[in-house]
Parts: sequence; C-alpha cells; structure tokens
Amino acid sequence: MGTGYQRILLKLSGEALMGNLAYGIDPAIVHNIAEQVAEVVEGGIQAAIVVGGGNIFRGVKGAAAGMDRATADYIGMIATVMNAMTLQDALEQIDVPTRVQTAIAMQEVAEPYIRRRAMRHLEKGRVVIFGAGSGNPFFTTDTTAALRAAEINADVIFKATKVDGVYDSDPKTNPEAKRYESLTYQHVLAQELQVMDSTAIALCKDNDIPILVFDLSVKGNIRRAVMGESVGTVVGG
Ligand code: UDP
Repeated sequence: MGTGYQRILLKLSGEALMGNLAYGIDPAIVHNIAEQVAEVVEGGIQAAIVVGGGNIFRGVKGAAAGMDRATADYIGMIATVMNAMTLQDALEQIDVPTRVQTAIAMQEVAEPYIRRRAMRHLEKGRVVIFGAGSGNPFFTTDTTAALRAAEINADVIFKATKVDGVYDSDPKTNPEAKRYESLTYQHVLAQELQVMDSTAIALCKDNDIPILVFDLSVKGNIRRAVMGESVGTVVGG
C-alpha cells in the first residue's frame, strides 16, 4: 500500500462506536469500522487499536457529579474494555484475528498488556486492541494512543473523528471555516486546536509520531489514508 506505513495505531473514541445513539454501542457502526480495519489488515498493514470509553463513562463527568476522581477514572477505564471486546467480536465475525490486551489485568476476558507480546501479535497479522487506557487515572485514551504508538513503534496514529480534519473554527457553526491540510504539533498546542489533548500531542511531538485526523464515517477512509490519499489533516513536525 502507498504511504510506506507498515504499522498503524487507530484511535477510536467511545463515541465513534455510538453512531446516532445517545449512549452505548451501535452494532452496525462497529461492523462498519471492523470492515474498514479488515480491508487494510488483509492488505498486509499491521493495525493496533486504542479505544476510548466516552460512550459509556467518563471520569471527569463522574468527578463533576461528586465522585472521587481516581475511582471515576478507573470506571472509565473499565468501560473501555467493553468497547475493546465489542470491537474484537466484530473483527472476529469477519475472520480477522485479534487480541485484546488490557492495562488493568482481567485475565478471564483478555491478555494483560505486554509490549513485546503485542508486537509479536502484530507481526503475525493480528489486530491488537488495547483496553483499559494506560491503566492510570488522570490520563485519557488519546494519551494512551500516543504512548502505545511510541511503545510499539507505530508509523502513525489515525485519529478517527466525525469531521474530515482540523479546521480553524467550527465548521458546524462557521460556513467559512477552513480545513488544514497539515499542521505542526507546535501550532496545535499553541492554538489549543481540538486534535487530541495536550499530553498526547506533546508525546507525539517528542517521539515524532504523525497524527492523521480523519472522518471514519466515510467508508474506505482507513484504506485511502494508508494509500496516501488526502482524507484529513496531518499533524507533524
Ligand atoms: N481513563 C483513565 N486513564 C487512561 C485512559 C482513560 O483514567 O489512561 C478514563 C477516564 O476517566 C476517561 C475514560 O477512561 O474519561 C474514558 O476514556 P476517554 O475519555 O479517553 O474516552 P474517549 O473520549 O476516547 O471516548
């Protein structure tokens, strides 16, 4: 495939699995995502996935409602495991081999996160889905995506969103909003653009990991991105 990307890390927010529902998981959407992942894996690309949990539970929200923040964050991390298992199921239904690895041990349902093992799975063509975030409260799954991408030497992070890139203002409210073709990490940090949180951006910057922000709802976009077609905004050095 076109770009020279061998190993990608796909970051899916919890909302990406929600579709138009107000909460939870839309199986049709998950099936669509699985098909897009299958397409590139069958083309020989190694794919790891970090999935969020915002469709089920967010620590910050729990804390705002009076919960202990760390406890709320652990609940958020456990929520991501449900999403990870859902994705695993959808991928295996279409014969893509997968492993879920969790940063909080849940050995009855998934492997524990072991970096070298994750890389071995990828080399064997298995999709590795990372659940339970980084295992640490006060972090996000965006930061986890940057961390895991650095650990497994991913060539790029594909950050799935509902818009086709990063704009200079909100395209939903401003018809004049301009989409960036590419951006530097520094620009994203300085302008506080909504790409990923600043910890995640800083980690990508330090480790030279490009981030492609793209619209996952357009079928075939993961393949197009791997082929080097312009499907969103690239954040880089
Ligand atoms: N979380 C955490 N540590 C991590 C990753 C996630 O504590 O390393 C918790 C945090 O409470 C977060 C929730 O898990 O709100 C769900 O993750 P996130 O909000 O990143 O999901 P997304 O926005 O991608 O759906």
